[in-house]
Amino acid sequence: MLDKPLLSEHLHCTLMNKLGLISAVSLAKAAKRRGFEDGEMSKTLTQLKAFRSLKSDLDISLFDYLDRIIADCLDGALSSGNVRPGYCAPVGDDRSRIWPGDWVDATGYARYYSYGWHTGADLNLNKPGWDSDKHRPVYAIAAGEVCAVRTGVPGWATVICIRHHGECLSRYAHCENIAVRQGQMVGMGDYLGNIGNAGGRYPYHLHFDIARETARMLSHPLDWPGNAPDALERVRRDYFNPLKHLRGEVQ
Ligand SMILES: [Zn+2]
Repeated sequence: MLDKPLLSEHLHCTLMNKLGLISAVSLAKAAKRRGFEDGEMSKTLTQLKAFRSLKSDLDISLFDYLDRIIADCLDGALSSGNVRPGYCAPVGDDRSRIWPGDWVDATGYARYYSYGWHTGADLNLNKPGWDSDKHRPVYAIAAGEVCAVRTGVPGWATVICIRHHGECLSRYAHCENIAVRQGQMVGMGDYLGNIGNAGGRYPYHLHFDIARETARMLSHPLDWPGNAPDALERVRRDYFNPLKHLRGEVQ
């Protein structure tokens, strides 16, 4: 049964909003993992649809039923064991949504390269060949609010920033398309867009980083410490090592 205080703390909004956070796709995946039959799954989704339209007139048994499935989502039904509960990797298929799985972190956190100190991970799937990750889907690592969406940004092309209230900000860059809009609430594992190459500037890859939820980071979704004298210090202060953060390791 769902632990409501935990859920409330985790997602920081009302239960009605939480139901809105979990997409039909995420629910279907979670239901399948629990071994629900297809019929039962479609019944669930039909009920969810009805439930959303009821708004204030709650059906308690349906409420409990959906609670169980949502709890499974939050407890890592979409995760694969090596990330902390409520989180999943931003790339990979359902089976391999571990971190980093077959994916290669081409640059790494707090490492210096030609554009300055790197803030996160550059994720590539270079098997069986270079650019194998071209057009692959990118997913939200946890439930949250899309706090910034930018396109046509020099060096970045696109940037999607999600605020995981009370936890962190996650950022996804160089996508070739964007499937979410600013202000939208998303669930863990929700589709954000596909991996791009920033208009040919880079090989296909996802730039992914996780920042602390500070006022500065909230007001600067395109933050990049770069080559500034205090850049390394800033990276370490304002950004988490994304690998360790998703695994729940102390930094
Ligand atoms: Zn990068």
